Amino acid sequence: MTDKKVALVTGAGRGIGRAVALELARRGCAVAVNYSRSEGPAMEAAEQIAAMGGEAFAVKANVADGAEVKEMFKAVTEKLGAVNILVCNAGITKDNLLMRMKESEWDEVIETDLSSLFYCAKEAVRPMLKGRWGRIIAISSVNALRGGAGQCNYAAAKAGMIGFVKSLAREIAAKGITVNAIAPGFIETDMTAVLSEELKAKFIESIPAGRAGSPQDVADLAAFLASDQASYLQGQVIAVDGGITM
Ligand code: NAP
Repeated sequence: MTDKKVALVTGAGRGIGRAVALELARRGCAVAVNYSRSEGPAMEAAEQIAAMGGEAFAVKANVADGAEVKEMFKAVTEKLGAVNILVCNAGITKDNLLMRMKESEWDEVIETDLSSLFYCAKEAVRPMLKGRWGRIIAISSVNALRGGAGQCNYAAAKAGMIGFVKSLAREIAAKGITVNAIAPGFIETDMTAVLSEELKAKFIESIPAGRAGSPQDVADLAAFLASDQASYLQGQVIAVDGGITM
């Protein structure tokens, strides 16, 4: 990166978000590490970045709440400066068969995984337009592209992210801002750790690469998309999935 950039990574205390935050810091960004419940891990990630000689700030906000997102951007801007790189990573699953899915399970996933992108992008875009440079990266899922049984809410939210990304990219592509999505396949984190060993083995068997992905596999792509070198990549959905969707 040519000059120092400020990155905000949502849900960066653990899993994929943490790997993205660390990788962006390694590449010279000042990083806001957002968390909602994982305060300890988020502080630890920020300390890890500081120990590498970087600049980081752990910031609490529920990304499903527009008012909290607004406050978070205010705090990050005061502490580190205007956000140049936004990585919307925070997400949850509340899997259930459609007939059993409660409205609350639907709403919570849509709010956390999709509305959060609207809240965060809305705050990020104005200063990006002013600076005529910006990177917005949404972490979607291959299950938005091919569906996952028992995941109507999750697949709908993640597919919504992809539509949002393309639409926003078209809106602001000429302003030096890129908007892209990453669609991870099966990545080893707390989210997938809850699956039974049997189910995990079945998933892994279906991956052409013959292994699960790591958070770092996603972080490397996110860092590239955030770089100056990715300035002509616009409105794309890139799967990091060991070949599941090919
Ligand atoms: P994870 O280990 O379960 O971590 C989820 C992260 O989201 C945590 O840092 C959590 O922070 C944060 N989060 C959840 N609700 C939040 C809220 N309301 N406000 C702020 N932060 C919130 O998940 P992961 O596997 O790293 O997944 C990261 C992203 O990749 C998610 O969007 C997920 O859907 C997507 N993805 C993952 C996989 C996979 O195989 N792992 C595959 C496809 C897509 P707190 O603990 O602080 O709440």
